[in-house]
Amino acid sequence: MKIKHRPGVVLGPTEYGIDIADPEAISIWREFLKRQLLKDRPNICDCGCGELIYLGEGIDMHEGIITKGNTQGLPWQPLIYHEYNSFLVRHEHHMNRPMLREHFFRLSCVRYGIDAIEVWLNTLPFKTRGKWPNTVSL
Ligand SMILES: [Zn+2]
Repeated sequence: MKIKHRPGVVLGPTEYGIDIADPEAISIWREFLKRQLLKDRPNICDCGCGELIYLGEGIDMHEGIITKGNTQGLPWQPLIYHEYNSFLVRHEHHMNRPMLREHFFRLSCVRYGIDAIEVWLNTLPFKTRGKWPNTVSL
């Protein structure tokens, strides 16, 4: 399976028609997403440190608003591998610094606008819905 970049299409598994029940497709999707974000975004660590990141050093893709832990065991977990929720972080910072949801939420609102982020959050099939972040229980 090869994923072809479609300019102007939001980088999300649903938008790209990825089968979220297929682990191999998800793995390929995550590689594609990371590669694309490395191309599209400024080369700055998203943890908040403001330091440059360099291709070739360890750069992790971190799910910052809705984390893997938040969606552990849920069949729709791959929906969190979306550009609104994905952040490029130096590996050593990812391992050693606090990764705060509020920070990443704000960062995505700056990048994409709060409306887009709220619409995306409300597409996630949490059992509790409502206006983010007050009534979403994680
Ligand atoms: Zn950092």
